[in-house]
Amino acid sequence: MNRIKMIVAALVVLATVAATGAQAKDKAPNPYQTAVDAAYAKYKDTHEGKNADYIPALAKVDPNVFGIAVVTGDGKVYTAGDLTTEVSIQSISKVFTMALVMQDQGPDAILNTIGVDATGMRFNSIVSIEMAYKLAGGPEMNALVNPGAITATSMVKGASRDEIWNKILANYGDCAGRPLSVLKDVYDSEAATNQRNQAIGMLMYAYEYIKSEPLQAVDIYTEQCSVGVTAQDLAMMAATLAFGGQNPVTKKQVYDTKIIPKVLAVMATAGLYDDSGKWLYATGLPAKSGVGGGIIAVAPGKFGIAVVSPPLDDAGNSIKAQKAITDISNALGGNPYAAAVPMATKKK
Ligand code: GLN
Repeated sequence: MNRIKMIVAALVVLATVAATGAQAKDKAPNPYQTAVDAAYAKYKDTHEGKNADYIPALAKVDPNVFGIAVVTGDGKVYTAGDLTTEVSIQSISKVFTMALVMQDQGPDAILNTIGVDATGMRFNSIVSIEMAYKLAGGPEMNALVNPGAITATSMVKGASRDEIWNKILANYGDCAGRPLSVLKDVYDSEAATNQRNQAIGMLMYAYEYIKSEPLQAVDIYTEQCSVGVTAQDLAMMAATLAFGGQNPVTKKQVYDTKIIPKVLAVMATAGLYDDSGKWLYATGLPAKSGVGGGIIAVAPGKFGIAVVSPPLDDAGNSIKAQKAITDISNALGGNPYAAAVPMATKKK
């Protein structure tokens, strides 16, 4: 009797162990979610840097907003933190307007008109315009700093301001996978205080980078910077660039696959302004920041990632976003330069 009891007990123990094992296997933590959760936990209480305040509306944004999203090629989305607050896209928009111009007019339209070189200066540097024009004597800047970005916006074709604007907004929405809209308070605030960008637009017109309507280009540029996005929208936009120009959820082919390496090359060169070299050194990822606190980064063929957190460093890049993306990408093997040693061939 005792023996039977013991056998039954042993069988119960064995069955429990097997069931727990199977359960553990089913619930094996997903490496993407694990990396996202770890970065969120590690940085949620970091309080370095400060919101941009040269655009008054940005100073009023809650500095504790912190959202992370990663999108993979199968359309899966891994998130942590705040996914509902919309911040203004700001300079991240520059990537998608540049891509739109490349799509419509070929990548060389950007290369020949604006250039694809780093300026090594702040995003709204006027000296950089003088240097490019006087020293280089030609298009030696890029479409991710204000002078080049305002020029890229001036290159979007359309019969009226509305037609140009609707084309830009629809393009961003196609990348995000949902219709986007403008944060009116941010647009009004920047439009009332963007005299420096107006001066940049006029100077680019004087030097004939911009062919016509420079102040209209500045106004549309200001509106494009005010488009509201969540971390998830931004990650989806990044993922569209990570997977050949196709939104991995809606499957819409937003850009020709062949322009994507050119878009990513400019992001790698100038996406974090004068800190682009440091960023590439740390992550190897083409990326783009905005003074609204967002950063997108692209691991080609692997994932698109975005983090939103408004406080910035001196170069104008979100501090928490830089830290979180670096950790997550390193955990997921995102660096495209980190190739493995080829399999050793057997010695004879
Ligand atoms: N709209 C902002 C500006 O032109 C964008 C700058 C940014 O995000 N770096 O100043």
